[in-house]
Amino acid sequence: MCGIIGITGVPDAARQVYLGLYSLQHRGQESSGMVAIDGEGIARAHRGMGLVSDVFSDPVLTGLPGDVAIGHTRYSTAGTSVLANAQPMLARYREGPLGLAHNGNLTNAVQLRADLVNKGSIFQSSSDSEVLVHLIARSEAREPEDQLLDALERVEGAYSLVVTIGRTLYAIVDPRGFRPLWLGRLGEGWVVASETCALDIVGASRVRELEPGDVIRIQDTELDQLPSLPEKPHRRCIFELVYFSRPDSTIFHRSVDGVRRELGRELAREHPAAGADCVFSVPDSSNAMALGFSEVSGIKLEHGLIRNHYVGRTFIQPVPGSRTAKVKIKFNPVREVLDGKKVVVVDDSIVRGTTSRALVQLIRQAGAKEVHFRVGSPPITGPCYYGIDTPSKRELIGANHDVEEIREHLGVDSLGYLSLDGMLRAASGDSSEFCHACFSGAYPTEVPHDVARARNDAPLLVGVS
Ligand code: AMP
Repeated sequence: MCGIIGITGVPDAARQVYLGLYSLQHRGQESSGMVAIDGEGIARAHRGMGLVSDVFSDPVLTGLPGDVAIGHTRYSTAGTSVLANAQPMLARYREGPLGLAHNGNLTNAVQLRADLVNKGSIFQSSSDSEVLVHLIARSEAREPEDQLLDALERVEGAYSLVVTIGRTLYAIVDPRGFRPLWLGRLGEGWVVASETCALDIVGASRVRELEPGDVIRIQDTELDQLPSLPEKPHRRCIFELVYFSRPDSTIFHRSVDGVRRELGRELAREHPAAGADCVFSVPDSSNAMALGFSEVSGIKLEHGLIRNHYVGRTFIQPVPGSRTAKVKIKFNPVREVLDGKKVVVVDDSIVRGTTSRALVQLIRQAGAKEVHFRVGSPPITGPCYYGIDTPSKRELIGANHDVEEIREHLGVDSLGYLSLDGMLRAASGDSSEFCHACFSGAYPTEVPHDVARARNDAPLLVGVS
């Protein structure tokens, strides 16, 4: 998953993008970067591995002048975690510099790349996004904008994009609208960003959320809505609401916090835990769910686990094997709350089951008498091909075990998952508005047949550091 932002018509745009990237850090922690374009049309890029705070410094930002800038925070869902894959991409295009920041996964990238390589393209990275850059450059259309639109017609899957061609900024959402993208106003200029929390931090007012298929062009301060991409059934990613986006954001016309509270309420209706002494969340993504659960069940809300905020999200670390040890670093139980108590633990999802199992051990060691685990989404039974970093089916506990087996594996007294219908009710949407393929198996596109390569393994590893 990734966070993207673009700003135009604002002096010192790079400094605003920098701020915005801070608020999109939760969307990707492996690398971040920026491309800024000055008044002469000269583009400069800076990218690095690590957090926004590791990558940018005052001198770096001073070296990125201009009133147009785009930025990106990344974790790898296609392509490996190396600097060569950090974004935004910056290419020397015949019409001037071309910058591109992508959130999502292209499902036909492997075939397109093979085709391009056969025609002589030389790739710098193993990320799927570079395919787009080549398609733009090789398009037979005459105008750069038509080349961009031409390239978009050839890609399938999930893409929310900010693209700069020369000094013109484009903001695009794929026709199914998997990933969010917002438009805001900042002084005379414009901001587009993955989530509203990024608009808030730079002080931009909210103009509107981009709809699936939207293409927006902004030249200096002039904004034009271009014809939409060919219509496809909308498929907003429900996992953005369940887990990924920040609760202070509004996406897909919904408050993330509001949906999460409702998920908790539905969970309490479907899987009450009568007789429990307290309920608490696995912080932070489930905080609002525990609140909703407490509200409906009448069970007292507590803080049973304290999270150390200086450890990155477990999943986002791409090196396997470090996960269990990290749970201990990341969470500490509050003994005084847990000792001798029957507790309800609310988490947003179970993926591999490793975090939850280790957490339950911590909670029991802290003296809990009974542990009732409640999950604010259904079992994850399949990988995501659209930009969320869920592992292969083999590693997904919900794909290989039933609820009773998972309960035993976690070592809990009871386990309750929210149903698909309950989740959709909480998001106040019907099944057709959302992509819920990781829970239901209903993939809205053809699933890439060369799965490993499409999701992770690079056909060509470029290990620049
Ligand atoms: P697991 O031990 O694999 O079951 O991890 C479950 C935890 O990971 C839950 O607390 C979720 O909040 C969190 N989680 C779910 N999906 C992701 C993801 N794609 N990236 C990072 N963390 C995730």
